[in-house]
Amino acid sequence: VCPTAALTEISEVDKVWAALEDDTKHVVVQTAPSIQSSLGEEFGMEAGTVVTGKMAAALRRLGFDRIFTTDFAADLTIMEEGNEFIKRFKGEKNLPHITSCCPGWVKFCEHNYPDLISHLSSAKSPMSMFSAISKSYYAEESDIDAKEIYTVAIMPCTAKKFEKEREELAGDTDAVLTTRELARMIKEVGINFTTLADEQYDEMLGAHTGAGTIFGTTGGVTEAALRTVKEELDGEPLGRLGLGFEGIQEASLEVAGQTVNVAIANGLANASKLLDEVRAGNSKYHFIEVMACPNGCVGGGGQPLPTSKEIKQKRALGLRSIDESDSIRKSHENPMIKKLYDDYLGEPLGGHSHHLLHTKYQKRDKN
Ligand code: SF4
Repeated sequence: VCPTAALTEISEVDKVWAALEDDTKHVVVQTAPSIQSSLGEEFGMEAGTVVTGKMAAALRRLGFDRIFTTDFAADLTIMEEGNEFIKRFKGEKNLPHITSCCPGWVKFCEHNYPDLISHLSSAKSPMSMFSAISKSYYAEESDIDAKEIYTVAIMPCTAKKFEKEREELAGDTDAVLTTRELARMIKEVGINFTTLADEQYDEMLGAHTGAGTIFGTTGGVTEAALRTVKEELDGEPLGRLGLGFEGIQEASLEVAGQTVNVAIANGLANASKLLDEVRAGNSKYHFIEVMACPNGCVGGGGQPLPTSKEIKQKRALGLRSIDESDSIRKSHENPMIKKLYDDYLGEPLGGHSHHLLHTKYQKRDKN
């Protein structure tokens, strides 16, 4: 069920087929981190089975011009949001810093906690960062007219369809399909998914790290952010946070000689408990991650059905296994992210980054 209940699922499958058949369009696709360990269920595979390679192969057969990953943009989000947190932490301003990559949560905040909007990270979500980069840096580097680029996002939820339509983000993403809708397309053309040989993402926006992958499960954004923050401030790696699946989790760590308290909430009822403390002025946290769905995006409303607590946890463990076996596990070590800043963006939170990669939120009526 979509946590932003007011949303109805409007399928854009037909629009995507039309774009794929249109020779004047260069169609790029990004796949959200959580899809890698859930898509296989649509084809009878065990929950949590990592199907990244088969997914890339299937997308290529469907006719997408470039197969990219939102994991890349999750690394970019960490570069911007991690530095935003450092700035707030050092200046003791707008703390606790609250994540904003989940549109279900952002909309809930705009309706129910508009007084806390200044605490939200201004960094766009990975999906929207990816789309903005695909029509600027990628277009320039590939010598393609940005107007010809059509960006499709495969996402775990219908809330991402709402995010795409936000006035502030209009034009970034052209179409959003859920995991189930992608599976429908693969079945429609008769691709035998389970027998596909693994293929890779394309270069440039296909470069990824384990940090980007764990965005798809509860606690992943926090852990990815802290890996970069800790190294940037202390020059040493983050130890294990030991996160599990509870609705609210907390951790404390020493950074730059100070204690940083973090809290992670999945599910909006759990988030409300933390937000009521912030509103009352008695929150001890410096960093709060909120994901609207139970267990985070592995439990999104667009994921395969049926689902259960066990299935979501298997999907989460699948993502954790990708992270653990990845040769690069920190966002700031993603070579393409380094190149993007060197060649194009300059520095995190700089003028160019701010223009392309940050957004704002608005108070919305409760009705
Ligand atoms: Fe979508 Fe993930 Fe937020 Fe659920 S937690 S609404 S799947 S972004």
